[in-house]
Amino acid sequence: MNRRDFLIHSTGGVAVPAILSAGETTQKHEAQSHIGPKRIPITMCHGIRSGGEKPLTADHLDRLVSIASEMGFASIDYDDLDLWRHKDKELPLRPILFDFDHPVTSMRYEVFDVLSRYGYHGNLFINTAGIEAMHAGQIPERGERDFMTWDEIGELVAAGWHIGAHTVNHPNLSSLSQEDPTGDRILAELVECDATIERRLGIKPRDFAFTGTSWSRTAESAVMQRYRFGRLWIIGSTYQVDGRSIRFAELIGIDGPDEADGGPPHAARYITRTSNPYRLPSMEIQGLIHSPSAFRSYLEGALPSTG
Ligand SMILES: [Zn+2]
Repeated sequence: MNRRDFLIHSTGGVAVPAILSAGETTQKHEAQSHIGPKRIPITMCHGIRSGGEKPLTADHLDRLVSIASEMGFASIDYDDLDLWRHKDKELPLRPILFDFDHPVTSMRYEVFDVLSRYGYHGNLFINTAGIEAMHAGQIPERGERDFMTWDEIGELVAAGWHIGAHTVNHPNLSSLSQEDPTGDRILAELVECDATIERRLGIKPRDFAFTGTSWSRTAESAVMQRYRFGRLWIIGSTYQVDGRSIRFAELIGIDGPDEADGGPPHAARYITRTSNPYRLPSMEIQGLIHSPSAFRSYLEGALPSTG
């Protein structure tokens, strides 16, 4: 069986990146299913931001991503995650999701360059208002604009990046649920975001990133009707939910106290087989895992021996 046949055979006709090389046997494939990953780490950031207390320069991002590479992590996307959840696909033994929110220019250049250096791909969640406004006028030179062009996003897609939705206007979902309990406004945000991404890229988004550290039941029910996954964002231990502040751990149903670093319990920071697909965590790089040692510890916490 050649490599392509193996891929098609092993994935029910959908060609996806190989987990096993063609030389490896089905027996080994079976064996792997019992020792697959228990915890999947997932990072998030908004591209290169060189200001603030925890700046993310291209060099710093490279330093962190190199740790994942040294430790043998392989990047996956939400298609891989979906197939794994439905037991239709094995993941690499050390999978990781590199998520990115907002279509800012550094994604196509500095961030793409760093990830590509290690053979990694990102998952980009797009809020559409800013980039659409830019395209409505004269597009500035690269160094003078905040956003990528749609062509630049198309280049990320061509290189293997995965695209998800992140609303049009980036509302605070907790506040919006109080202003509009009907859910009409959040639904309109999702419909327009999806339509714009489909029109511009030919991709119908199947995955969603909630905006800021805000969430509502109304938003989640709209998200559940349109997408496979909803992803949250960890910058501390609390979240804005339905007009009030609660612990993040409570939102995703993880027991135990928050940790000394100011974040939720360690178990709340990874994707597992039992994670609610609409309340997935992600760890902000400019937050609790900014230092190389904290980043390394986070990845170590995903390894089977410690998980
Ligand atoms: Zn955002």
